[in-house]
Amino acid sequence: MKIAHHPDRATLMSYAAGSLDEAFATVVATHLASCAECRSRLRETEEIGGNLLEAIDAVPLDAAAFERAMSKLNEPVEQTLDEPEQRKPSLSRPLARLVGGGLDDVAWKTVAPGVAMHRLPTSKAARGSLRLLKIAPGKKIPEHGHGGTEITLVLTGSYRDAFGRFGPGDVADLDEHVEHQPMVDSSEPCICLVATEAPTRFKSFFGRLFQPLVGI
Ligand code: ZN
Ligand code: ZN
Repeated sequence: MKIAHHPDRATLMSYAAGSLDEAFATVVATHLASCAECRSRLRETEEIGGNLLEAIDAVPLDAAAFERAMSKLNEPVEQTLDEPEQRKPSLSRPLARLVGGGLDDVAWKTVAPGVAMHRLPTSKAARGSLRLLKIAPGKKIPEHGHGGTEITLVLTGSYRDAFGRFGPGDVADLDEHVEHQPMVDSSEPCICLVATEAPTRFKSFFGRLFQPLVGI
């Protein structure tokens, strides 16, 4: 199965510029480790960024040059071959440092029936929080909106919501206006790496009970 869902271009641009919050940057870096398409998109973004900086240095920024550079961003990216052996992101990359081993070694804390969580350390400078979530097959997360942006990377298993099906390597890059109700549709638990900017707002009564437990 090919990776179908990627971080937004704006997210990749912030990542390239080094301005993406630490928690979000960890999720993006973990996705990049298994996504050749985003790696090539990132290289392109960095080149354009470099050219823009040179233009700023040389002359007061020419609006037409800026527009040309920006329009390049919207050109389709060459399809790159997926690397099947990396389809299931291994924890040997950015995440491994934080987890300190494999997913089997995670000190899960059950926060609701069928839902376990593990909070990952971030530095004091981080605004967003970073967590691993493990959700049992068939389990639904109550419908919720987001107080800020949320970016989720599936590590194992899969879930489905109004935006489609998300399997290993897929990223859901959601802004604060989005409401959704993910449901795990794999036979194994769905483990996700989630960065959130602000507390998630649950709509239902059950959701509000669930929120302080999960903390998403
Ligand atoms: Zn990607
Ligand atoms: Zn959500």
